[in-house]
Amino acid sequence: MPSGRVHEAINLSVLGLAAGVYWLYRETLAIPEPIAVAFVGSYLVGTFLITPDLDLAERQVRSKRRWGWLGWLWVPYGWLFTHRGLSHTWLVGPLTRLLYLGGVGLVLGWLGLVLVRYLGLHPVLEARFSPPPPEVVWALVLGYYVSQWLHLLADGIWPDVRSLRSRRR
Ligand SMILES: [Zn+2]
Repeated sequence: MPSGRVHEAINLSVLGLAAGVYWLYRETLAIPEPIAVAFVGSYLVGTFLITPDLDLAERQVRSKRRWGWLGWLWVPYGWLFTHRGLSHTWLVGPLTRLLYLGGVGLVLGWLGLVLVRYLGLHPVLEARFSPPPPEVVWALVLGYYVSQWLHLLADGIWPDVRSLRSRRR
């Protein structure tokens, strides 16, 4: 099984290749800049920060270390998921990490609000969040998923087409 460093090298090589191909066909493809930036950004996040091997976060893994002192946030994920189990599946696996991170974000946000109220401060953060356009959201999702799929392929895990087919039946 490849190490974290090898996974990162594979993902970066594929990204470099794709960028080269894009450069050759840039006039025909002409992907708008926000979409390209969203794709590459979430691909890099999926390569360095949110990887399937966080299912080992109760120990030391490269992607956990990249979170710095926030790396402990992933330890419960490592407890919840056995190595190369559900975390290493094609559709649900990447989703478990997004949901986990969303849950952690909600808890931290709630704790922050409680603290702000307790200290009698006015919330500095105003809820002025406007969601990005759908094509940017899709680029974000795709960039993240492609980075996870390359990890799975390098681990020798192929999409289970048979189970998909039998489910459709
Ligand atoms: Zn792995």
